[in-house]
Amino acid sequence: MSIKDNIAEIRKDIPDRVKLVCVSKFHPASTISEAYDCGERIFGESRVQELTEKYECLPKDIQWHFIGHLQTNKIKYIVPFVSLIHGVDSQKLLLEIDSFAAKANRVVPCLLQVHIALEETKFGFSENELMNLFETMDYRQLKHVSIAGLMGMATYTTNENQIRNEFRTLRNLRDELKRTYLKEENRFNELSMGMTNDYRIAIEEGSTMVRIGTAIFGERN
Ligand SMILES: *Cc1c(COP(=O)(O)O)cnc(C)c1O
Repeated sequence: MSIKDNIAEIRKDIPDRVKLVCVSKFHPASTISEAYDCGERIFGESRVQELTEKYECLPKDIQWHFIGHLQTNKIKYIVPFVSLIHGVDSQKLLLEIDSFAAKANRVVPCLLQVHIALEETKFGFSENELMNLFETMDYRQLKHVSIAGLMGMATYTTNENQIRNEFRTLRNLRDELKRTYLKEENRFNELSMGMTNDYRIAIEEGSTMVRIGTAIFGERN
């Protein structure tokens, strides 16, 4: 199957309201161009240097999403052009992005990453930490980040119910936070969930954005 065929297949599964983030990490710019020529404009990268190099050499109407773990000392390299940062997992990182975005004279959309899977990881807010963040932080003070919603990764398992429940947890959390803290605002609508192995379930559970790599570009080296 070619990249073109893969995209055509995936596009059949994705309703118009769901954005497709083509996860191009570890693949060369020439591969991204193939997907670009099929009409794709949103690409996801997980390493800062790789992202900036690709940004430099590829068309400027690409919307670049950062989907990896962002270290504070690297924020400044992507803030001038990045369209969405998916994995914000601490208040410190949020404040730092705000400050670099101010210098770049931009408002940078961000998603808060929530740890919904069973696997141990140091990345992502727990539900309680997230509640606590909204309780204690006045997000209106952040003039240069826009909190657009939540992002999460489900457990890597063949148990569909497990995956479905985790995505449902993320959706409920978004709804609850929006109801409680962001009611009168037209934002905090995004739910970035779903990858190659579970994007169909994620869409059924209300995903607004799927991040798909392997099913488009094949295995990464
Ligand atoms: C690599 C990656 C993806 C894409 O995973 P596939 O299984 O190849 O579709 C999605 N989200 C994040 C955060 C990733 O790091």
